[in-house]
This record gives sequence, C-alpha cells and structure tokens, in this order.
Amino acid sequence: MICPKCGREFAAPDLRSLNVAADPSLRERVKDGSVFVCKCPVCGADCLAPEPILYHDPEHKLLIAYTTAGLSSEGLEGYTCRLVSSVGELIEKVKVFDAGLDDVALELCKFVTSQELKKNVSLKFLKMDGADGEITLTYPENGQMQMLEIGHNVYTDCVGIVSRNPVLRQSAQGLVRIDQAWVSQFIAG
Ligand SMILES: [Zn+2]
Repeated sequence: MICPKCGREFAAPDLRSLNVAADPSLRERVKDGSVFVCKCPVCGADCLAPEPILYHDPEHKLLIAYTTAGLSSEGLEGYTCRLVSSVGELIEKVKVFDAGLDDVALELCKFVTSQELKKNVSLKFLKMDGADGEITLTYPENGQMQMLEIGHNVYTDCVGIVSRNPVLRQSAQGLVRIDQAWVSQFIAG
C-alpha cells in the first residue's frame, strides 16, 4: 500500500481472513477499528488498511467482505454474506449483527428515521442498550457527531415490514450490499 502522508510503499497487513472464532480478541479490535490501523514504517503515520478485508464469524455464520474483486458465496449456504464499500461500513455491520439485529430491518429503520428528520444525512448504527433496547444512531452535522436515540418499536415495526415483503427478503440473499441505496430502491420506486 502507499502511505497517504509520505507516499512510500510498504506491505499492508493481510486482513483477508479476520476469523473471530480463531482469535476471540479480534471481535473487539474490529469494532473499535484498531485492527485496521497500520503504521507506515518510513514516517510513522497511522494508515487505514486497504481492501481486500474479509470478516468471518463462523459461529454466527456471518461473512462481511470489503473488496471490489469478484467473490462468490459458493459453499456458504446458510450464511449471511454482505459486501461493504468501506472499513467504516464493515465495522457498522459487525456492530449490528453482534447486537443481534437484522441489518435489512435496521437499514429500513435508518431510512424511515432520516425521512422523519427531514435531513439528508447518513445515519450510522452505534449501539443498542437499556432495558427497552433503545437504538442509538449517529450522523455528522456541522463537523460534529450527533447522536439520535430511537425506540426499539421503530425497529420492531421495520422487522414486521421486512417479514411481510418477500421481494425485500429475497433480494437480501447471497452476497449483497445492504445499505441506504439498496433500501430506497424498494421504497422510493
Ligand atoms: Zn509514510
């Protein structure tokens, strides 16, 4: 990879097999992002590891791929396979699935919430907590990260909508990119 600061080339860490079953400490280092940061050996700058990055959670049958190379979901029957376009999206997916949430319903939730906000912002899942399972989303505004709490019932409603929509369910099969653009094609169409 090329260091964005000094322009020198160095060997990127191999993140083609982030298997959380083989290394349990990996899960947290993925979620806090530290596993994706590498140091340039020339100038010492912190750099973000490039693709391809493959996250694999065999216990939960989950595969998340950050790559533009051709990938097939062959041999991954019963798996939830997701394509993402950035390290940030990969981290968000891991947080969503680790919270036991369905990412299709969550993307719908984000879509509905951004409509209500009447703001053209990109919402990200941060966490689910509290006795009522409140969901915290974040979005950037005026250079700052804003937090937004939504009730668990919003998510539950979205789970219901998804379960009653076979086309939506069907399109979430295989190795797919589930994001705001994906959800909006079913709603805005
Ligand atoms: Zn450098």
